Amino acid sequence: MTLRQVTAVMRGRPASDGAGVKLTRVFGGVTPEQFDPFLLLDEFGSDEASDYIAGFPSHPHRGFETVTYMLEGRMLHEDHLGNQGLLKDGDVQWMTAARGIIHSEMPQQTAGRMRGFQLWVNLPASEKMKDPAYQDIPANDIPEISFDGVRVKAIAGETQIDDQSITGAVSGITTQPLYLDVHFTAANQLDIPVPEGHTTLVYVYQGSANIGDPAHKIDRSHLAVLNAQGGVRITGEAQTRLILLAGKPLNEPIVQHGPFVMNSRQEIEQAIQDYRDGSLVAVRD
Ligand code: MN
Repeated sequence: MTLRQVTAVMRGRPASDGAGVKLTRVFGGVTPEQFDPFLLLDEFGSDEASDYIAGFPSHPHRGFETVTYMLEGRMLHEDHLGNQGLLKDGDVQWMTAARGIIHSEMPQQTAGRMRGFQLWVNLPASEKMKDPAYQDIPANDIPEISFDGVRVKAIAGETQIDDQSITGAVSGITTQPLYLDVHFTAANQLDIPVPEGHTTLVYVYQGSANIGDPAHKIDRSHLAVLNAQGGVRITGEAQTRLILLAGKPLNEPIVQHGPFVMNSRQEIEQAIQDYRDGSLVAVRD
């Protein structure tokens, strides 16, 4: 297998969002073309309730999908349609905001550890105004394969590692996202195939790992961006944890204004107006 090389390494930066939740913005808001079809990755993780308790009160989204993966903790999601869901340890919510969702995401704990990720996945122009949809995936329904000292969970997409195939909990998305969570309990090496031309990112959130060929050491809280061809070689040590993201670039103009991501300034102005007058979430006939 040809192997990808690391072309850039960046460090997640401290940020605050919602009503004052402290988080690490791994990427988002800057040079979005570099991560196409992904728009943003936030890591939240704290033992201090004051870092997360304010949560994310009512706010809108249009034009993309949000994927919340709770590693530890409890978060209640409620939207304008009356949909409600409690995300617990290991659960995933794949929310296709599309034309419009107004929702809140609020911690359901006043102490203890909250840890997880939110990823934003862009939608193609042809799908930005479709009806919103949810896929709620309990932890036990996330497919997993294991090797000597390594567990690979597939939240989305499919791949084959050695002689084991895995198909993630979410499929059928136009950008063909691959979203893997990889836990090492012993040192080992995996080669993970990724389709040619797909944007490929590895974020190390615990320990460190050697990524790519030639190997590039990536420390905790750092993101590796890889080039466009071949598989991803990952050499982890005991306790390394990382996520691998890959997806098909849309190659469309990206215009972002806060929680709205469209293809033109005019569409952004329309989204703002629709939010103000209530038609962002109006039910269609
Ligand atoms: Mn949100």
